[in-house]
Amino acid sequence: MASQSNQQHFLLVPFMSQSHLIPFIEMAKLFASNGVIVTVVLTPLNAERFNMIVDQAKASNLKIQFHLLPFPCVEAGLPKGCENMDTLPSPKYQPLFFAACNMLKEPLENWLSELEKLPTCIVSDICLPWTSNVASKFNIPRVVFHGISCFTLLCSHNINLSKVHERVDSMSTLFVVPDLPDTIEFTKAQLPEAMKQDSEAWKEAIDQFKESELSSQGILVNTFEELEKNYVRGYEKVAKKVWCIGPLSLHDKLTFGKFGKDDKGLINDSESECLKFLISNKACSVIYVCFGSLSFIPASQLKELALGLEASNHPFIWVIGKNDCSVELEKWLKEENFGERNKGRGVIIKGWAPQVEILSHPSTGGFLSHCGWNSTLEAISCGVPMITWPLFAEQFFNEKLIVQVLKIGVRIGVEVGVDPMDTFKDEKVLVKKEDVKMAIEKLMENGVEGEQRRNRAKEIKYMAYKAVEDGGSSDSNCKLFIQEILEQSS
Ligand code: UDP
Repeated sequence: MASQSNQQHFLLVPFMSQSHLIPFIEMAKLFASNGVIVTVVLTPLNAERFNMIVDQAKASNLKIQFHLLPFPCVEAGLPKGCENMDTLPSPKYQPLFFAACNMLKEPLENWLSELEKLPTCIVSDICLPWTSNVASKFNIPRVVFHGISCFTLLCSHNINLSKVHERVDSMSTLFVVPDLPDTIEFTKAQLPEAMKQDSEAWKEAIDQFKESELSSQGILVNTFEELEKNYVRGYEKVAKKVWCIGPLSLHDKLTFGKFGKDDKGLINDSESECLKFLISNKACSVIYVCFGSLSFIPASQLKELALGLEASNHPFIWVIGKNDCSVELEKWLKEENFGERNKGRGVIIKGWAPQVEILSHPSTGGFLSHCGWNSTLEAISCGVPMITWPLFAEQFFNEKLIVQVLKIGVRIGVEVGVDPMDTFKDEKVLVKKEDVKMAIEKLMENGVEGEQRRNRAKEIKYMAYKAVEDGGSSDSNCKLFIQEILEQSS
């Protein structure tokens, strides 16, 4: 532990979305277990989601606290209680949500100006570029946190720099990303919205993020060096100082993937159902299906998925996220008697599933995923091969890394991203039930290819565990980062 005089105090400022908050809370635990006092800026409803985890951390003498700022829903024109991206009634509210997050600047500054002793470092989400002004106003070192891979960071950098995507003649023309260690191709239709749309608002946002990165002392990334060594090295050459400290969720092995990890050892209903189901199935036989925290998938598409899962003849756990659980889908499931028809062979979870617990169970043999980076890292940490079904944002980059570079996944075959703002506009079916069935059969097959894929997934899981062990690359990078901040503040 650090002595009182050089006690570090890090202020963590996450973007208020579940896939940002989860790694930030894990990062808080990691820093605190390295002797740092950590304050996480949250809003009241978001804090409620993480109180239990932080209480557990405190019980282990970790110095973590939350600083709560009221979320300006009304001022930003959002419905009351929309403090997290996953509570928005439709993706159309996203610009207002970003605006509300930007309004947190002033109350944060007010709070800082009242403190007797300022934090020694600000760790800011890349999505909150205004923390750059806060840091310079109070003269606090600031680093940026990226919850995406170095593969994505380097691809994006090289595409933006070369503007290769602006020279293609159509959305479906393949182009090669220049200056990468492998031949990586994309179409414009697969790029994140900010890169493919020619709008001033997006350009401005990208400039702000870039500016925010440039004005920081360096970049923390939720990845590990061994996973994507060539891409980490490549990104280090074009970026500020980079510290790879992931997989963040794996540092706390006491809680990683444990069912019933609350303080009373209780398991809630969906955990209990999943656990019973997983126990009743053979090793590596269950397909887990989940599209993260922000999907809005039309019912027509989900019906195809359901029929494909059924046709595959493999046991499955299918998470229908809150926003995907439409009246139309519910009606169809009921009319088809889908649950009853698949009783014993499939479990449907509506809302939120204990994803890490499911992935780390020995019965889980495959993960059909939208390729969000947290989900990808969790699958990697659990050694589970994936079926890739990217939707939007940087998910096509992650698919490339999973399938082509790491060779631990099978594509379901989507060629174009959906517009996250427009997903309900038409009832597009991009993936047919036959595609779902085929991808599952390919992933789960017992031939040489399937075996090689599973073995690679296991090897990479082993590397991930090594990275977070004492003296491993991520553990060392975390310590180096803390040391560097200590040297600056003293
Ligand atoms: N998650 C979960 N249960 C669910 C859905 C999501 O625990 O039912 C977690 C998942 O484990 C991951 C995060 O939510 O940590 C989703 O982040 P990701 O980056 O994969 O996707 P996003 O939500 O940004 O699309």
